[in-house]
Amino acid sequence: MYTIKPSPGKGLGVFATQAIERNDKIVHEPALLSQTNAEELEKGSRFKCLIDKFDQLDDNKKAQYLSLSHRVVGFDKETYDVLRYFINTTQPRIADDDYQKTFQELTRMLDVFNTNCAAMVKSNRLEGFGIFPIYSRINHSCIPNARWQYNYTVNEMEVHAVRDIADNEEITITYFPYDRSLSTFQDREWDCLLRGFQCDCEACADPDPDLRDGRRERMCELMGFFEDYNLGAFINEVELNPPFGTPEPIRLALELVKLLETEGLFGDSLAYACDLLCDFYCVLDQWDEWEKFAIKSNLNSPNPLSEIAIASTKDSETAGFNNEATGIAEGSST
Ligand SMILES: [Zn+2]
Repeated sequence: MYTIKPSPGKGLGVFATQAIERNDKIVHEPALLSQTNAEELEKGSRFKCLIDKFDQLDDNKKAQYLSLSHRVVGFDKETYDVLRYFINTTQPRIADDDYQKTFQELTRMLDVFNTNCAAMVKSNRLEGFGIFPIYSRINHSCIPNARWQYNYTVNEMEVHAVRDIADNEEITITYFPYDRSLSTFQDREWDCLLRGFQCDCEACADPDPDLRDGRRERMCELMGFFEDYNLGAFINEVELNPPFGTPEPIRLALELVKLLETEGLFGDSLAYACDLLCDFYCVLDQWDEWEKFAIKSNLNSPNPLSEIAIASTKDSETAGFNNEATGIAEGSST
């Protein structure tokens, strides 16, 4: 269904080798390396835990792990001390040259983790982070054609198409956490630079970004409105003032759906907006409309928005490493 090959200006990328339909599962793979918050607590340090986990991989898996892209983000004194301690205790008589080599391998290991780790979320709880080699090769777009999610039922990372994808088209996901995926060009550019690349997707390469920015600003406004609006409020509103026309919340949710579709955003935000409309139409007993948006919202995830609200992809901020680091080195998924 897919192949990994060079993507112009982005190192490697993942490309469809056949036409893929919306909702098709494109990728499913177990973690090459993962660590949970519980394991970190047990070890007393995220770095120690990660180093131990890496050390347990066989040579093939270590090589596969180290072949993934990494941007050099540096490390703090605590990490340096942990690295030194690990080498000195596991290899007390190590020669100077080997010490340098081991030290470099471990710092690269941390950089690969920071660059590629994906959040593993279970029932809206962030459980830990994992490294997934194929997922790691998927490049970013601000108008992605796929979405990702760790599936705890089968313990695999899954990537699904959010719209039909043509044969040979590049598969893309968003690297942004949910609250920034609808942001304007300038904010997205900053987010991309922090991650070590410049985005050249259709939205970012648009010679006239004002129209898109206007749409995205309005989407954020509408999402903000629904953050503070619950179904109970809608029921009260409808019961107190039976609507003669389209109730205001439905009008706003329909506007949100239209904006998202116009912008080409068929992922989690669209599913969220459609779920809202399903709730509203359910209250109004309008089942034809309900069905229309239930079909649109079906994204192989029972509650996509809440899942991704705390999940971030390839995001060192979320991983908790090198929070202040802003080093910019390589392309995205090289
Ligand atoms: Zn972009």
